[in-house]
Amino acid sequence: MFFILLGAPGAGKGTQADIIVKEMSLPHVASGDLFRHALKNGTDLGKQAESYMKAGKLVPDEITIKMILERIAKDDCENGCVFDGFPRTLEQAKALDVALEKQGKSIESAIYIEVPESVLLDRLTGRWVCRTCQSPFHQKNQPPKKPGVCDKCEGELYQRADDKEETIKERLKVYFAQTMPLLDYYDKKGRLFRCNGNQHIGEVGKDIVKFLKGLKQKK
Ligand code: AMP
Repeated sequence: MFFILLGAPGAGKGTQADIIVKEMSLPHVASGDLFRHALKNGTDLGKQAESYMKAGKLVPDEITIKMILERIAKDDCENGCVFDGFPRTLEQAKALDVALEKQGKSIESAIYIEVPESVLLDRLTGRWVCRTCQSPFHQKNQPPKKPGVCDKCEGELYQRADDKEETIKERLKVYFAQTMPLLDYYDKKGRLFRCNGNQHIGEVGKDIVKFLKGLKQKK
């Protein structure tokens, strides 16, 4: 089963991805994490993506699609995965459909976490992420038990370079222009599940788990 998490930066995709990963026993494929990993390791992919990421712009489709298709060709994605941050353009969504179709597979659901724009900026400026396991925290809404330390793995928490107000505004602009059309794309295929992301993290998670349990019962 292949799931997609849709939502603006700051909607809570990473947090909810963890819940789906556990519920469905599937790997988490986060395009942003893959790019940051490549950047940290100084690979060609990292060098290609760097300037776009710093500016809050999308890495070109050709580079992104190649990276994701290579990732899902690995054995752990044989039975599916949870995409987080991919696809972000219609071109990427279509390329993913074509690649899956060739293997007789398809997207099970696109889960859209809906959050008002005014809330997103606050969430992103207060976000801290674990350097080791990438778990997200928020200085007000979801503080770690020990300041600066990840609750899950005790890794160091840091603020992403692109979580600066100016870059956040650009990322949101890009999201509304390029990623929003995907809602319509998956809705027309009857694959879109909308959930209210403007409630407590646990409540969003409960809505998603309820939806997933319903899906499992139908299978
Ligand atoms: P994220 O961690 O998902 O917010 O992604 C961080 C940055 O990585 C984005 O602002 C983009 O520069 C790049 N990126 C991540 N996913 C994609 C994608 N699907 N298409 C293009 N660029 C991406």
